[in-house]
Amino acid sequence: MRQVSVFFAILKNAMMLIGLPGLGETSVRDLQRMGILLPEDLLEHYPMRYDDFSNRRLVSDVAPGETVTLSGVITSIASRPVPGRRLTIINAIFSDTSGSIRVIWFNQRFLLKTLTPGTHVTLSGQVELQKQGLQLKNPSFEVQRGQETTHTGRIVPIYPLEASLTQKRLRTAIAALLRTERIVDWLPEEIRHREQLIDLPRALQQIHFPETFDAAEEARHRLQFDELFLYELAHLRSREELKKLSAPAIAEAIETIKLFVQSLPFTLTTAQRKAAWQIIEDMSRGEPMNRLLEGDVGSGKTVAAAIAALNAATAGYQTALLAPTEILAEQHATTLQRLLGEEAVILVTRTHGQDRLPEIAKGEAKIIVGTHALLENKVMFHRLGLVIVDEQHRFGVKQRQALKEKQMDDGTVPHLLSMTATPIPRTLALTLYGDLDISVLDEMPKGRKPIKTEIVKKGDSDFTRIKQELDAGRQAFFVCALIDPSEEVEAKSVTELHDELQKGPLKGYRAAVLHGRMKSEEKERIMAEFKQGNLHALISTTVIEVGVDVPNATVMFVEGAERFGLAQLHQLRGRVGRSDLPSLCFLRPSGFVPEQTYERLRALVECNNGFELAERDLALRGPGDIYGTVQSGFPGFKLADLFNAPMIAKARNAAQSLLKEEGGLSRYPAVRARLGEYVKKIHFE
Ligand code: ADP
Ligand code: MG
Repeated sequence: MRQVSVFFAILKNAMMLIGLPGLGETSVRDLQRMGILLPEDLLEHYPMRYDDFSNRRLVSDVAPGETVTLSGVITSIASRPVPGRRLTIINAIFSDTSGSIRVIWFNQRFLLKTLTPGTHVTLSGQVELQKQGLQLKNPSFEVQRGQETTHTGRIVPIYPLEASLTQKRLRTAIAALLRTERIVDWLPEEIRHREQLIDLPRALQQIHFPETFDAAEEARHRLQFDELFLYELAHLRSREELKKLSAPAIAEAIETIKLFVQSLPFTLTTAQRKAAWQIIEDMSRGEPMNRLLEGDVGSGKTVAAAIAALNAATAGYQTALLAPTEILAEQHATTLQRLLGEEAVILVTRTHGQDRLPEIAKGEAKIIVGTHALLENKVMFHRLGLVIVDEQHRFGVKQRQALKEKQMDDGTVPHLLSMTATPIPRTLALTLYGDLDISVLDEMPKGRKPIKTEIVKKGDSDFTRIKQELDAGRQAFFVCALIDPSEEVEAKSVTELHDELQKGPLKGYRAAVLHGRMKSEEKERIMAEFKQGNLHALISTTVIEVGVDVPNATVMFVEGAERFGLAQLHQLRGRVGRSDLPSLCFLRPSGFVPEQTYERLRALVECNNGFELAERDLALRGPGDIYGTVQSGFPGFKLADLFNAPMIAKARNAAQSLLKEEGGLSRYPAVRARLGEYVKKIHFE
């Protein structure tokens, strides 16, 4: 039996997704792949936009160009193939009490069976004027059963989809859930009242099937508040727990660090210096450091991490450095070995360093690099004094928990340093992660040239400038969204692009493919070849999105650029321009690009700075774009807006006042249960 969620309080019948109308086994599997496992996950799969099909008309009243909903009967229906093309046209006549109108669909032969003459149906779509008169083109339809409609005649939700899923299937399933589940509001009445929020059952109903756009907005407001409130609650509670703990006071190894800094092939920026000293000062206190190092891609965060690790090692403490991917862990291990000496650093992944665990347990190894599995696994540390988490969006809650379990014999816990390129303005960051201290690298290393970014026309294959770079001994990244070719998605896959390049423009150049489904050893081998300069080009999925540092690479080519968000494109672009060489970034759309997307790409052309881009992104998204924050990379934020400072402050105050009450959350079992669920969930994201 699955665990019953408080979100639904007492579920009368613990219903799995599989039993829901609209969802067959394949759909359920596809939902699972999207992380939607339980009914509550499905209810949190919010629409990305709506179609306004609320304009109900009579046939006699419609005008060309209007989007309308008509209710009536199919009077005739027939199909005809279009010679020479793989296309079938369905022609139908539809009538209501006021008259008849032609209806046309493309490639939907099953309609002949569904919409037989005499069927009562509601149609929603656009009216066109053709030679033969008015017609309705490709309308959504719904066979009428009673008064309620789900797909027509109202404001209709449009969901993000994958694979076999369709709008109709999702709507049908979600509508059924909303009808049958008893959703209980867990947010305390006082908070709801003070913040003028609608209740949860209504919010969920209205976010999916709004009566009006205002109602959808109210629903969104409530659900955004929930996300921020839970986020703040989790963080504030984790800070309270942290305050009760102590950490080793690590002496500042000033001389050693000075020597190290002098030995670097470059001069530290002022920002790097400042951040490094803030970090080692934190570590010298007996309280656990909880610092976030924020800096745009390429600002040089790794060397600050190296200084912190060196500081700990000098005092005899171990450091664990966690990276989000194996590729990045390997890179960090190599970098740190180069900076701090081969023997000081051990890489531990599924394929590496398993034989060296005893050295770690005995404390002979001082710096241990791996992925997040490092903390969760049974790696035994000797005196773990510092944990560094790179490319971190999670900011602590999960790591805190894991760290507590790494308490040393004397009862102290390690210091924590998180590093991120997520561009959040400092003031906002302070409210958002109130449990963190923040250092910002707001300055790029000297000599960096802005990356020249261009939008390439669809299918354009003028690779002259790319070849010039390769001929000059530089290297190129090519990035696509997909691994394998797909029928459903109009985007090139890694394998297709590899073929295209090797047969055409990059014939004779050495290129290799890299993606997340490859074996670790294989990925590592290819990455190493690329780093050593043995490959001209790497054709890859977004496994190289964060952190990868190959200063000799000067070309980034993003295929299907319209499929990526601004923040993601900025991260990808950050793989080049990491030395004083000039670099190029090409963004090639693989399909039709609507004006708004095009504008997004143009922002990258015009702007090289992550903070500015984040602001532009927000302005471009506009208040109606409810799916925008997905790209923020923040777990648990589906609707919440990272830039909505007033709402963040309100959520924070509400969380604070609840925790301050006598007995804390014990008076609010529903909040506590929801929080537990939330924390558990973000652990798996
Ligand atoms: P990020 O902040 O994106 O993690 P990295 O730490 O990977 O950036 O640094 C990017 C590149 O810049 C690396 O190749 C690094 O060696 C180099 N670098 C770091 N600091 C400096 C500096 N002060 N001057 C010149 N190059 C630097
Ligand atoms: Mg980095």
